[in-house]
Amino acid sequence: MTISTMSELFVHGLQDVYYAENQIAKALQEIMTQVTEPALFDLLEHHVEETREQIARLEQIFKRLGRTPQGVTCQAVLGLIEEGQELQRTINNKQVLDTAILASMQAIEHYEINRYGTLIAWASELKRQGAQNTPSGEVDIVDLLQLSLDEERGQDARLTALADSKVNRHATRG
Ligand code: FE
Ligand code: FE
Ligand code: FE
Repeated sequence: MTISTMSELFVHGLQDVYYAENQIAKALQEIMTQVTEPALFDLLEHHVEETREQIARLEQIFKRLGRTPQGVTCQAVLGLIEEGQELQRTINNKQVLDTAILASMQAIEHYEINRYGTLIAWASELKRQGAQNTPSGEVDIVDLLQLSLDEERGQDARLTALADSKVNRHATRG
């Protein structure tokens, strides 16, 4: 696929994050089974739901653009997931494992925050230049992406709060 316009670059970005979100949904469900701390389990479970909504939102955006939802391989998210799993396999202490899982989930949230931030900037510029028009009565593409960005930021903040209040302390105390 050759990309020569910002609209095409934007679509590629959507496909990248669409692929990433689907991988993340799978990874979250797998990793949840390894968690000991109930509050961490709840955060991950809650984020599986949010991730499903984010996938549906991306599908809504593809539809708006007259495209079939399609992913392109996101090497970055595959790497983040694989790196986390590789480390987790070597850990034989439950509390330390929770800390490692939490940290690896935050690395993924940060990737998503970065991607949604970029997509919002591109979509905003395309909108300013009239390359993307929102039919009346429909939610703007920028606003849809912003909802997902806010969820990723929210999850990141909740993970930080749980790490500080509990998970890191338990793991360090042993
Ligand atoms: Fe997400
Ligand atoms: Fe990517
Ligand atoms: Fe996320």
